[in-house]
Amino acid sequence: MTRPLFSSTIAGSLPKPAWLAEPRKLWPAWKLEGDELAQAKADATLLWIKAQEDAGLDVIGDGEQSRQHFVHGFLEHVEGIDFEHKVRMGIRDNRYDAMVPQVVSELRLKGRVHAAEARLLRAHTQRRIKFTLPGPMTIVDTVADRHYGDRVKLAMAFAELLNQEALALEADGVDIVQFDEPAFNVYMKDAADWGVRALERAAQGLRCTTAVHICYGYGIQANVDWKATLGEEWRQYEQVFPALAKSSIQQVSLECFHSHVPPQLMRLLEGKDVMVGVIDVASEVVETPEQVADTIGEALQHVPKRRLLPCTNCGLAPMDRAVALQKLQALAAGAELARQRYG
Ligand code: ZN
Repeated sequence: MTRPLFSSTIAGSLPKPAWLAEPRKLWPAWKLEGDELAQAKADATLLWIKAQEDAGLDVIGDGEQSRQHFVHGFLEHVEGIDFEHKVRMGIRDNRYDAMVPQVVSELRLKGRVHAAEARLLRAHTQRRIKFTLPGPMTIVDTVADRHYGDRVKLAMAFAELLNQEALALEADGVDIVQFDEPAFNVYMKDAADWGVRALERAAQGLRCTTAVHICYGYGIQANVDWKATLGEEWRQYEQVFPALAKSSIQQVSLECFHSHVPPQLMRLLEGKDVMVGVIDVASEVVETPEQVADTIGEALQHVPKRRLLPCTNCGLAPMDRAVALQKLQALAAGAELARQRYG
C-alpha cells in the first residue's frame, strides 16, 4: 500500500474525557476503578479513533486514553518497580518536580502492557495505526533508581522490556511503533552517546515502521518558561540528529510551528521520514489549514516531499478537549490543502 502524500498523524496523546479522568492535568486522577475504569478507557479510546478518522487523519492512534502518563503507564506493568512509595524528583534536568516510582530490583515485564488498547485500535479502524511507547532514556529520567546505579545499564534494561512489548504490538497489527524521547532534547550529549543505542535496542527486530518523537514537552507552564530561556535559536536537535540519521529508526518527529528550531536542521535527517510539527500544543489558538499548509511549504525547502509527514509538535493530553478536536481537524485539512498546493 502506498502512503498518501503528506500522511498526517498526531504525536500521541489526546485529552481524556472528564468522565474518565481529571481534565487538563498531566497526571490526572482516574474517575472510576476496576472493571468500570477498564470499560471507560476502552470507550474513550473508541471515541478518539472515530474523531481522528472523522477529522481525516491518515494514521490513527489510541490517544493514550488508557495510561495516566506516557511514561508511568508503561512502568505500572514492570516488576521491580515500587509504585507504593513514590518520591519527589526533579525531572528533565530539574525543569519540574514529579512524584516518581522507584526501581528497587531487577526489571521484568509482568505480562503484556498495551494488548487491550492496541487490539481495540486494530479492530476499529482500517487505516494505518501507530502505537507510542516511552523511550528508554526518557524512562530513566522519570524514575528513581535504587538498584542499577548506572543510567546506561538501566536504560538498556528498559530497552529490552520495551522491545518485548514492541514486538508483541507488531504482532497485534500495529503499523508504526513510536518511542517518545523528550529527554533527547535535554541531555543531548548522552542522547548521542548512548540514548540512540538504547532506542535501537528497543526497536530491534521490528519489521513494522519505527519512529522516535523528540519535543520540547507538553504545553504546561514549566515548559513554556523553560523554552523562554533557550534563546533565539533552539539548536538541541543538531546534536542528536546526526546519530539518528545513522540509526535504524525510520521516522523522526520534531517541533516546527511556533518553535525556534532553525528549519534547516531537518536536513540532518537525510534518509529519514520527518514528522514535522505543524500544530502548536502550547497555544489554545487553533491553526488554520492555510497556516498548516504554509508550515508544510516551509519544511519542503529542507525535506523531500515523499518524506514529509505533518504532525503535532507534541501530545495534546493536557489541553481542552474541544480545542484538541479542532486542532486535529486543522491538521488534516492543512495536509489536504498542502496536497493541492504542492502535490
Ligand atoms: Zn512530546
